Amino acid sequence: MDDKQRQRQTRLSLKGLSIGDAFGQQFFSQPELAATRELPPYPWTITDDTVMAVSVVETLEVTHSIDPDFLAQKFAERYVADPWRGYGGTAHGILQSISKGVPWRTAAGDVFDGAGSMGNGAAMRAGPIGAWFADDLVACVENARQSAAVTHAHPDGQAGAIAVAVAAAIASTLEPNGDPRLLLETAVAHTPDGPTREGLRQALDVPLSFDPRSAANVLGNGDRIISSDTVPFCLWSAAKSLRSFEDALWQTVCVMGDRDTTCAIVGSIVALSVGNTGVPQLWLDHREPLNCWAYLHLSAAISRCRVKAAWSRRRPCCRRVGVDRGSVPFAVDWHAIVERVYCSRCRRHIRLMDGVHDVRFISPGLPRGIFLTAIS
Ligand SMILES: [Mg+2]
Repeated sequence: MDDKQRQRQTRLSLKGLSIGDAFGQQFFSQPELAATRELPPYPWTITDDTVMAVSVVETLEVTHSIDPDFLAQKFAERYVADPWRGYGGTAHGILQSISKGVPWRTAAGDVFDGAGSMGNGAAMRAGPIGAWFADDLVACVENARQSAAVTHAHPDGQAGAIAVAVAAAIASTLEPNGDPRLLLETAVAHTPDGPTREGLRQALDVPLSFDPRSAANVLGNGDRIISSDTVPFCLWSAAKSLRSFEDALWQTVCVMGDRDTTCAIVGSIVALSVGNTGVPQLWLDHREPLNCWAYLHLSAAISRCRVKAAWSRRRPCCRRVGVDRGSVPFAVDWHAIVERVYCSRCRRHIRLMDGVHDVRFISPGLPRGIFLTAIS
């Protein structure tokens, strides 16, 4: 795969993840809708699952792998910008510490009396990593482990991320008539020993023809918020309905449990199998617009205050491009995540750094001299 293909697949996984997250979250307040498969009303709000996955995708696209220091910084930036997205208590503590300058290894390693977290929070954001490394399972495993370690020092918290990333990689490359059980078999083969792997082995023994509620009775539904109680059912559910995004999410949400996270995981995997055309536009339209992330991304960069072009020696026009901190487009209605900032003259990517100056707006929301491109 070239970088463009990796990027396309990774964003597709993020799309599935964010819709699943937002969809599942609605059933905490309206669980009765699951029985009749009635779509909850707009808007479906996204939660920490999506916010953290955005940082994972950004890290992959900027560093072409998981650089844990960069990822920790992105997690902390987005957490500080909006801490009320449903983060768990442990995550609050870890992300607060990182944002105050505590090294991520210390922050993640100190929790649970030094054992680290075995929660499902690393698994919930791992699908895009499998999309990026779909052609290299060794790299997939290692990068998933690195992505988890930033917040989950316990090996089983990391095992959940590895299993989800591997399943996503298989979903991305499986032939249309391939056996969906390969998701589970490959995940078992690559996941380190521990309770999550044991659950995956159990999932292999549950026929895909079973009712999801029966499967969840054996495998768990995420109620305990730990990896081993969440990931086995999610991978089983993804395998069961690998060819239908809607079926996969309805059957996942019907067992309740940690439903934003289970649906985020399943959505991040199944989207890779069904492709962009298999993700229903109506569901995407129901998901909360991600304009807030455009703002956050841009403002986080702006807060560091200077715009400078990495290639400024070759493209001097980029030197003059900047963003005035006082003119941050608070009201920009941007239904996507800002991905890149470009110079309007030479169209080269601008690296945002410290210091900002002298930019006016050519239209509401868009600073002069700058183009924003977006992940839809
Ligand atoms: Mg959540």
